[in-house]
Amino acid sequence: MIVKTEVVVLRSIKYGESSKILTLYSKEFGKISCIAKGARSAKNKFGSSMEPLTHSLVVLYKKEHRDLHLISQCDALKTFKNIGKDLERLTIGLAIAEFLYRIAHNEEKNEHLFDLVIESLTALDAEPKTPMIHFHAVQLRTAILFGYSPALNFCSTCGKELLGGSGEYRYAFQIARGAVFCNVCMSPEGTSSGGQASEQMMVTVSAPALQLLRRCSTSAMLSLNFLVVDPKVGNELEEILRFYLQYHFEQYKSMKSLDLMQYYLK
Ligand SMILES: [Zn+2]
Repeated sequence: MIVKTEVVVLRSIKYGESSKILTLYSKEFGKISCIAKGARSAKNKFGSSMEPLTHSLVVLYKKEHRDLHLISQCDALKTFKNIGKDLERLTIGLAIAEFLYRIAHNEEKNEHLFDLVIESLTALDAEPKTPMIHFHAVQLRTAILFGYSPALNFCSTCGKELLGGSGEYRYAFQIARGAVFCNVCMSPEGTSSGGQASEQMMVTVSAPALQLLRRCSTSAMLSLNFLVVDPKVGNELEEILRFYLQYHFEQYKSMKSLDLMQYYLK
């Protein structure tokens, strides 16, 4: 079957003398693996359309029950050139690609996830004040799209509204349930609901970090470009999301980009 779909290139590896094997996140079919014959030959007809983080339009021969589909045509729609101009944004862009590569299931369509990636790369390409916010937002929203939506507005025990902003308040975030508890209910007595030790795993979350989590979960990606995130609050968010994603997605543990970010961006 010959099909046409928009894709984001997540990864590209050399294959044989002159070919490439690509992992793409496609709008129509979710994550797919493809082979591009001649993509590394002198007469490469694909240009830069197969570079990681490129938004392209591909035509492919898609065979049922095959793991690898054959690309016949690939044209770049958007190359997000600015992302490659500084190490920070490039590292974050590649981390977003790796995140999707690890988390998304093969050939499982999710247009919202596709749109999320395009939206985040577009924002990352457009001079964000704190580029890392996009990696946080992509992780949180992907978790939400997969059904793991944290409850960030009200205490999960007493229902009291949780104040965000610049307040000095600190709350407790329960990793397994994505539940937040107010400073009264966060005591061990208040949250004793039984269950395994891992179910009880709590991390503290400050009011500014809670506010930022809310923004990451709902704001348009481009509007996040205006945020200047205090590094302390950013680190807090990073830790919460790492625990949260690790808990819900087994594959997250093999993410290599987390170490790279630690190495290059700290
Ligand atoms: Zn409470």
